[in-house]
Amino acid sequence: MAINLKKIDELFRSDAVELFCPYCGTKTYCLVNLTLCSNCESIISMTRPAVLKKDSQLVQSLEKINSLSDADYYSEENFESAISIYDELISSKGNIGYIYAKALLLIKYSNYVLSNINYTSHGFMEENYTYSQKSMNLVSNARLLFYKLISIAESNTKSNINSFNDAYFIFLAYIKLGRLKSAQDALDNLKKFKENNGINITYANLIFDINKADFDSSLLISEKLLSSGVIHLNILFYHAFAMFHINKFKQSKKILNVLQNYIKNENINNLKEDIIIKSALY
Ligand SMILES: [Zn+2]
Repeated sequence: MAINLKKIDELFRSDAVELFCPYCGTKTYCLVNLTLCSNCESIISMTRPAVLKKDSQLVQSLEKINSLSDADYYSEENFESAISIYDELISSKGNIGYIYAKALLLIKYSNYVLSNINYTSHGFMEENYTYSQKSMNLVSNARLLFYKLISIAESNTKSNINSFNDAYFIFLAYIKLGRLKSAQDALDNLKKFKENNGINITYANLIFDINKADFDSSLLISEKLLSSGVIHLNILFYHAFAMFHINKFKQSKKILNVLQNYIKNENINNLKEDIIIKSALY
Protein backbone atom coordinates (compact mmCIF):
# COMPACT_ATOMS: atom_id res chain seq x y z
CA MET A 1 0.00 0.00 0.00
CA ALA A 2 1.35 3.33 -0.94
CA ILE A 3 -0.21 6.71 -0.64
CA ASN A 4 -1.01 8.62 -3.80
CA LEU A 5 0.19 12.11 -3.01
CA LYS A 6 -0.74 13.55 -6.38
CA LYS A 7 -4.30 12.31 -6.01
CA ILE A 8 -4.54 13.69 -2.48
CA ASP A 9 -3.36 17.08 -3.74
CA GLU A 10 -5.95 17.02 -6.55
CA LEU A 11 -8.74 16.03 -4.16
CA PHE A 12 -7.96 18.93 -1.84
CA ARG A 13 -7.67 21.30 -4.77
CA SER A 14 -11.11 20.38 -6.09
CA ASP A 15 -13.21 19.20 -3.14
CA ALA A 16 -11.88 20.69 0.09
CA VAL A 17 -14.16 22.59 2.45
CA GLU A 18 -12.77 24.90 5.10
CA LEU A 19 -13.81 24.25 8.69
CA PHE A 20 -13.41 26.70 11.56
CA CYS A 21 -12.18 25.64 14.99
CA PRO A 22 -14.51 26.99 17.69
CA TYR A 23 -11.70 26.74 20.29
CA CYS A 24 -8.71 28.35 18.59
CA GLY A 25 -10.19 29.93 15.44
CA THR A 26 -7.84 28.08 13.08
CA LYS A 27 -9.24 27.21 9.66
CA THR A 28 -8.53 23.70 8.40
CA TYR A 29 -9.33 22.23 4.99
CA CYS A 30 -10.95 18.83 4.82
CA LEU A 31 -12.68 16.49 2.41
CA VAL A 32 -15.56 15.51 4.69
CA ASN A 33 -17.46 17.64 7.17
CA LEU A 34 -15.42 16.61 10.17
CA THR A 35 -11.72 16.84 10.81
CA LEU A 36 -9.02 17.59 13.38
CA CYS A 37 -8.02 21.21 13.87
CA SER A 38 -4.56 21.71 12.36
CA ASN A 39 -3.56 23.79 15.39
CA CYS A 40 -5.17 22.39 18.55
CA GLU A 41 -6.21 18.94 17.19
CA SER A 42 -9.73 19.21 18.57
CA ILE A 43 -12.50 17.59 16.58
CA ILE A 44 -14.18 20.20 14.40
CA SER A 45 -17.22 20.04 12.12
CA MET A 46 -18.44 23.58 11.42
CA THR A 47 -17.61 26.15 8.77
CA ARG A 48 -16.88 29.73 9.74
CA PRO A 49 -20.31 30.95 8.54
CA ALA A 50 -21.97 28.25 10.66
CA VAL A 51 -20.05 29.24 13.81
CA LEU A 52 -20.68 32.91 13.00
CA LYS A 53 -24.42 32.28 12.83
CA LYS A 54 -24.36 30.51 16.18
CA ASP A 55 -22.05 32.90 18.03
CA SER A 56 -20.67 35.90 16.17
CA GLN A 57 -18.94 37.27 19.30
CA LEU A 58 -16.93 34.06 19.61
CA VAL A 59 -15.68 34.30 16.02
CA GLN A 60 -14.65 37.89 16.64
CA SER A 61 -12.77 36.98 19.82
CA LEU A 62 -10.94 34.06 18.24
CA GLU A 63 -9.98 36.08 15.17
CA LYS A 64 -8.68 38.84 17.42
CA ILE A 65 -6.57 36.26 19.32
CA ASN A 66 -5.18 34.94 16.05
CA SER A 67 -4.29 38.35 14.69
CA LEU A 68 -2.55 39.19 17.99
CA SER A 69 -0.56 35.96 18.01
CA ASP A 70 0.30 35.94 14.31
CA ALA A 71 4.02 35.40 13.71
CA ASP A 72 4.26 38.69 11.81
CA TYR A 73 3.12 40.63 14.88
CA TYR A 74 4.76 38.75 17.74
CA SER A 75 5.25 40.93 20.82
CA GLU A 76 4.83 40.37 24.56
CA GLU A 77 2.06 42.96 24.61
CA ASN A 78 0.09 41.20 21.87
CA PHE A 79 0.46 37.81 23.52
CA GLU A 80 -0.76 39.27 26.84
CA SER A 81 -3.83 40.76 25.13
CA ALA A 82 -4.57 37.45 23.39
CA ILE A 83 -4.31 35.63 26.73
CA SER A 84 -6.77 37.99 28.39
CA ILE A 85 -9.31 37.29 25.61
CA TYR A 86 -8.92 33.56 26.33
CA ASP A 87 -9.47 34.26 30.04
CA GLU A 88 -12.78 35.90 29.18
CA LEU A 89 -13.76 32.96 26.98
CA ILE A 90 -12.83 30.46 29.69
CA SER A 91 -15.04 32.20 32.24
CA SER A 92 -17.95 32.91 29.88
CA LYS A 93 -18.07 29.59 27.99
CA GLY A 94 -17.14 27.10 30.69
CA ASN A 95 -15.74 24.79 28.01
CA ILE A 96 -12.42 23.06 28.57
CA GLY A 97 -11.52 23.54 24.90
CA TYR A 98 -10.60 27.15 25.79
CA ILE A 99 -8.35 26.06 28.64
CA TYR A 100 -6.58 23.75 26.19
CA ALA A 101 -6.26 26.45 23.51
CA LYS A 102 -4.94 28.96 26.07
CA ALA A 103 -2.29 26.46 27.21
CA LEU A 104 -1.14 26.04 23.61
CA LEU A 105 -0.94 29.81 23.24
CA LEU A 106 1.22 30.04 26.38
CA ILE A 107 3.62 27.49 24.87
CA LYS A 108 3.78 29.52 21.66
CA TYR A 109 4.40 32.66 23.73
CA SER A 110 7.14 30.86 25.66
CA ASN A 111 8.89 29.87 22.41
CA TYR A 112 8.74 33.47 21.27
CA VAL A 113 10.27 34.72 24.54
CA LEU A 114 13.00 32.10 24.27
CA SER A 115 13.80 33.21 20.73
CA ASN A 116 14.70 36.66 22.13
CA ILE A 117 17.69 35.27 23.97
CA ASN A 118 20.85 36.63 22.50
CA TYR A 119 23.59 34.02 22.84
CA THR A 120 26.27 36.25 21.42
CA SER A 121 25.93 39.13 23.88
CA HIS A 122 28.94 39.68 26.09
CA GLY A 123 29.25 40.74 29.69
CA PHE A 124 26.28 40.42 31.99
CA MET A 125 23.53 38.16 30.84
CA GLU A 126 20.76 39.62 33.01
CA GLU A 127 18.45 40.20 30.08
CA ASN A 128 18.85 36.65 28.88
CA TYR A 129 18.18 35.40 32.40
CA THR A 130 14.89 37.34 32.46
CA TYR A 131 13.88 35.80 29.14
CA SER A 132 14.65 32.26 30.19
CA GLN A 133 12.83 32.71 33.53
CA LYS A 134 9.80 34.13 31.78
CA SER A 135 9.79 31.34 29.23
CA MET A 136 9.92 28.69 31.98
CA ASN A 137 7.10 30.40 33.88
CA LEU A 138 4.92 30.36 30.78
CA VAL A 139 5.55 26.66 30.24
CA SER A 140 4.76 25.84 33.85
CA ASN A 141 1.55 27.89 33.63
CA ALA A 142 0.63 25.93 30.52
CA ARG A 143 1.25 22.68 32.41
CA LEU A 144 -0.96 23.88 35.27
CA LEU A 145 -3.71 24.55 32.73
CA PHE A 146 -3.41 21.01 31.33
CA TYR A 147 -3.78 19.66 34.88
CA LYS A 148 -6.73 21.97 35.55
CA LEU A 149 -8.37 20.76 32.33
CA ILE A 150 -7.87 17.13 33.32
CA SER A 151 -9.42 17.67 36.72
CA ILE A 152 -12.48 19.51 35.31
CA ALA A 153 -12.89 17.00 32.47
CA GLU A 154 -12.63 14.04 34.81
CA SER A 155 -15.45 15.34 36.97
CA ASN A 156 -17.47 16.11 33.79
CA THR A 157 -17.03 12.58 32.43
CA LYS A 158 -18.24 11.18 35.77
CA SER A 159 -21.44 13.18 35.42
CA ASN A 160 -21.58 12.44 31.66
CA ILE A 161 -21.53 16.00 30.33
CA ASN A 162 -20.30 16.07 26.74
CA SER A 163 -18.19 13.13 27.76
CA PHE A 164 -16.48 11.95 24.58
CA ASN A 165 -15.06 15.39 23.87
CA ASP A 166 -13.94 15.73 27.49
CA ALA A 167 -12.32 12.30 27.44
CA TYR A 168 -10.51 13.22 24.22
CA PHE A 169 -9.19 16.47 25.77
CA ILE A 170 -7.95 14.48 28.79
CA PHE A 171 -5.98 12.30 26.37
CA LEU A 172 -4.53 15.32 24.51
CA ALA A 173 -3.57 17.02 27.80
CA TYR A 174 -1.66 13.95 29.04
CA ILE A 175 0.15 13.79 25.70
CA LYS A 176 1.16 17.45 26.03
CA LEU A 177 2.32 16.81 29.59
CA GLY A 178 4.47 13.94 28.30
CA ARG A 179 2.73 11.52 30.67
CA LEU A 180 2.47 8.53 28.37
CA LYS A 181 1.20 5.99 30.89
CA SER A 182 -1.73 8.26 31.80
CA ALA A 183 -2.25 9.01 28.10
CA GLN A 184 -2.49 5.27 27.47
CA ASP A 185 -5.14 4.94 30.21
CA ALA A 186 -7.01 7.90 28.70
CA LEU A 187 -6.81 6.23 25.28
CA ASP A 188 -8.22 2.98 26.70
CA ASN A 189 -11.01 5.01 28.29
CA LEU A 190 -11.79 6.69 24.93
CA LYS A 191 -12.33 3.26 23.38
CA LYS A 192 -15.30 2.72 25.71
CA PHE A 193 -17.37 5.43 24.04
CA LYS A 194 -19.73 4.60 21.24
CA GLU A 195 -18.21 7.39 19.12
CA ASN A 196 -15.05 5.33 18.99
CA ASN A 197 -15.82 3.91 15.54
CA GLY A 198 -15.08 7.29 13.96
CA ILE A 199 -11.78 8.82 12.99
CA ASN A 200 -11.17 10.18 16.50
CA ILE A 201 -9.99 7.03 18.18
CA THR A 202 -7.74 6.01 15.28
CA TYR A 203 -6.29 9.49 15.28
CA ALA A 204 -5.69 9.32 19.04
CA ASN A 205 -3.88 6.01 18.49
CA LEU A 206 -1.72 7.67 15.86
CA ILE A 207 -0.81 10.56 18.18
CA PHE A 208 0.03 8.06 20.90
CA ASP A 209 2.42 6.07 18.67
CA ILE A 210 4.08 9.26 17.45
CA ASN A 211 4.66 10.43 21.02
CA LYS A 212 5.97 7.01 21.97
CA ALA A 213 8.36 7.34 19.00
CA ASP A 214 6.97 4.08 17.61
CA PHE A 215 7.14 5.26 14.01
CA ASP A 216 6.73 1.82 12.42
CA SER A 217 3.40 1.50 14.14
CA SER A 218 2.32 5.09 13.43
CA LEU A 219 3.19 4.66 9.73
CA LEU A 220 1.01 1.53 9.55
CA ILE A 221 -1.94 3.57 10.82
CA SER A 222 -1.36 6.69 8.71
CA GLU A 223 -0.63 4.75 5.54
CA LYS A 224 -3.72 2.60 5.96
CA LEU A 225 -5.93 5.64 6.48
CA LEU A 226 -4.44 7.76 3.71
CA SER A 227 -4.45 4.99 1.11
CA SER A 228 -8.01 3.98 1.92
CA GLY A 229 -9.41 7.48 1.45
CA VAL A 230 -9.55 8.63 5.09
CA ILE A 231 -7.55 11.75 4.36
CA HIS A 232 -7.02 14.50 6.91
CA LEU A 233 -4.22 17.05 6.80
CA ASN A 234 -3.00 16.24 10.32
CA ILE A 235 -2.67 12.56 9.42
CA LEU A 236 -0.65 13.56 6.37
CA PHE A 237 1.57 15.69 8.61
CA TYR A 238 2.19 12.83 11.05
CA HIS A 239 2.99 10.60 8.07
CA ALA A 240 5.66 13.09 6.97
CA PHE A 241 6.89 13.39 10.56
CA ALA A 242 7.32 9.62 10.94
CA MET A 243 8.98 9.33 7.50
CA PHE A 244 11.50 11.93 8.66
CA HIS A 245 12.22 9.92 11.79
CA ILE A 246 12.94 6.76 9.81
CA ASN A 247 15.31 8.83 7.63
CA LYS A 248 13.09 8.90 4.54
CA PHE A 249 13.79 12.56 4.01
CA LYS A 250 12.80 12.86 0.35
CA GLN A 251 9.39 11.30 0.88
CA SER A 252 8.85 13.41 3.95
CA LYS A 253 9.70 16.60 2.09
CA LYS A 254 7.37 15.73 -0.80
CA ILE A 255 4.47 15.40 1.61
CA LEU A 256 5.33 18.68 3.34
CA ASN A 257 5.39 20.46 -0.01
CA VAL A 258 1.82 19.32 -0.67
CA LEU A 259 0.74 20.14 2.89
CA GLN A 260 2.05 23.68 2.55
CA ASN A 261 -0.60 24.35 -0.08
CA TYR A 262 -3.24 23.90 2.61
CA ILE A 263 -1.71 24.58 6.04
CA LYS A 264 0.46 27.39 7.25
CA ASN A 265 2.14 26.55 10.51
CA GLU A 266 5.47 26.46 12.23
CA ASN A 267 5.51 22.66 12.58
CA ILE A 268 5.80 22.26 8.83
CA ASN A 269 8.54 24.89 8.51
CA ASN A 270 10.47 23.40 11.43
CA LEU A 271 10.28 19.91 10.00
CA LYS A 272 11.45 21.17 6.61
CA GLU A 273 14.44 22.81 8.30
CA ASP A 274 15.22 19.59 10.16
CA ILE A 275 15.15 17.70 6.87
CA ILE A 276 17.67 20.10 5.34
CA ILE A 277 20.01 19.71 8.31
CA LYS A 278 19.68 15.96 8.60
CA SER A 279 19.91 15.15 4.91
CA ALA A 280 23.20 17.07 4.79
CA LEU A 281 24.55 14.68 7.42
CA TYR A 282 23.84 11.54 5.42
ZN1 LIG B 1 -8.26 24.52 17.11
